[in-house]
Amino acid sequence: MPPTPDGSDTPGPAYDAPQYELTAVAPVRFKAACPECRASFELPADAFLLAIGASRRTTSYSFTCPDCEASVRKPAGERIVELLSEGGVRTLRLHGVAHASRIVAMSFCEPRSWDRTLSS
Ligand SMILES: [Zn+2]
Repeated sequence: MPPTPDGSDTPGPAYDAPQYELTAVAPVRFKAACPECRASFELPADAFLLAIGASRRTTSYSFTCPDCEASVRKPAGERIVELLSEGGVRTLRLHGVAHASRIVAMSFCEPRSWDRTLSS
């Protein structure tokens, strides 16, 4: 509905009648279920952690059950990954981490000119 400019009968400025329906104040919440205690609940986006691995098998999301405090880890398909990442869930990328440890510390070839000549 476009706003009609015939608001001559509105008593005051706009802040008298605030309309916050379209403001994204509330955080995104996701419905989840706990396999331990079978509770179902809604959790905000920052309660989840999305771990994206090199393959689909290692891609999962995890959260802590608010009822029994079990840490739940479930496989995340493409749709779930999309849903969670769009909702602002922290994303941890598992692949690529291994490259950081690939830097081999080369031992420098020290010049041997000052070799101690210890002839005992
Ligand atoms: Zn639980």
